[in-house]
Amino acid sequence: MAFAVTQSCCNDASCVSVCPVNCIHPAPGEPGFGTTEMVFIDPRSCIDCGACADACPVDAIKPVDALVGDEQAYAAINAAHFEDAPAPAWGAPDFPASLDAHAAGLRVAVVGTGPAASYAASALLTTSARVTMVDRLEQPGGLVRFGVAPDHLDTRKIGARFETVRRHPRVEMVLGTEVGRDVTHEQLLTHHDAVVYAVGASADRRLDVPGEDLAGSLPARTFVGWYNGHPEVPADVVDLTAGGEGRTGRVVVVGNGNVALDMARLLLTDTAGLAGTPLAAHALAALGASAVTEVVLVGRRGPDEAAYSLSELRPLLAREDLDVVVDGGPEVAAAVAAAAPGSKAAALQGCEVAPLDHAGPAPGRRRLVLRFHTVVERLVGDARVEAVCLAPAPGAVRDTEEVRTGLVLRSVGYRSEPVPGLPFDHATSTVPHREGRVVDPATGRPVPATYVVGWIKRGPRGGIGSNRADAAETVGAVVDDANARVISSGRGSTRSFRRALPR
Ligand code: NAP
Repeated sequence: MAFAVTQSCCNDASCVSVCPVNCIHPAPGEPGFGTTEMVFIDPRSCIDCGACADACPVDAIKPVDALVGDEQAYAAINAAHFEDAPAPAWGAPDFPASLDAHAAGLRVAVVGTGPAASYAASALLTTSARVTMVDRLEQPGGLVRFGVAPDHLDTRKIGARFETVRRHPRVEMVLGTEVGRDVTHEQLLTHHDAVVYAVGASADRRLDVPGEDLAGSLPARTFVGWYNGHPEVPADVVDLTAGGEGRTGRVVVVGNGNVALDMARLLLTDTAGLAGTPLAAHALAALGASAVTEVVLVGRRGPDEAAYSLSELRPLLAREDLDVVVDGGPEVAAAVAAAAPGSKAAALQGCEVAPLDHAGPAPGRRRLVLRFHTVVERLVGDARVEAVCLAPAPGAVRDTEEVRTGLVLRSVGYRSEPVPGLPFDHATSTVPHREGRVVDPATGRPVPATYVVGWIKRGPRGGIGSNRADAAETVGAVVDDANARVISSGRGSTRSFRRALPR
């Protein structure tokens, strides 16, 4: 027997650090770490100790003998990663950075309470630092609370681990406080030795096509916030009822990343399976009464380049109550048929591939339609969306076509917004930095005592676990700067900071 990593792997590599025989790869620092969808256990060297399963924050690691249903495929998926691979070598041990005695009283403000903020606070707590976590919302958790799909219960388990960080005696929580509105960057620095911004990506990329802002066209962030009960998203912002011009029981999702798949899955799931999940009550009621039976996922590249993860697609392909079909011509059918084993395109080999007619209403049975090599030309409608005009992506062969729909979800990625008081690169929508130290592009010098982590640092890519290695880098920079006396320690107090906040 051996253990295997399964679908909900968050890639934070907590398991790698506790494996006594170095059998989990790619490990941080190895080629492929952060780009493979998950980490894998080498069944040839696993000694069944179970330390990885205990360490996994999302319960993704299980004994191969205990895998059931669709999970059983993961025994072969783990083993396949090591085919033809040489036995992994041991790297030099890597210890977390620690504060020198003169910096022992370091006080750090972490702005944000989502995954990047939580991993950064957790890394700071392995030193003697004190941490103030600041969030503009009254409910902490960021994307773990308001982003992860409510039916991804294993992934949501990581929230419990982050809660232990927030409850740590050296952590002070300051909620309902927004930098730029309630407190300035300078005030944070008056009362702390360093500030780490983990503010994520709170805006949406735009399609920049006519009709984008018609009623019935929503960015993914709104739809995700709606089903997760985000306090700033109205309960009635989504209409899934039948009737009315263009409302055909069909939803068109633009983009085919994991957020697009999350939304499609929830729209096409029987609500009986969603009761008892953290799905917002208004979303449960609306999805229960929903007239939607078809979701068309529109990707601009081919079936092998789709942005979703295979681990997110596989469970949809296995569902018996759902048809997954590929809306494409003979060239797409040929690409799928000839796809390399294990590739994203090969996963579609059991699906029907044919051009579909979207002129009429959606079919009665639930259907997920994957359409590739397609771009949105415009959204059609007077007061609200009635159709989407789809055109072939450059180089693709297909007629331009209007697909009738009353709801378009634009899932083309998130975008960070400028942080008041910090430099900002508008081309990448990130804060310029070196190893997490914020850098003023005008001078090339670090902005004193100011750091970034997560999506504001590297762009809106990567799941929850990718923030762990990112946070280790940023906190390493904070600790190095404190040890080198580049930043002072012992500045301010929790009480003086609280007094500075608006009442
Ligand atoms: P994403 O993975 O970057 O996907 C964005 C999608 O939008 C891609 O299909 C992209 O196409 C498309 N796109 C971008 N600009 C476009 C344009 N102008 N016109 C048409 N299509 C456009 O982003 P995401 O789905 O928002 O996810 C964000 C991150 O969170 C990802 O790293 C994702 O893996 C992660 N996440 C993970 C999970 C999970 O593990 N379960 C769940 C949710 C999110 P191209 O690929 O051609 O650029």
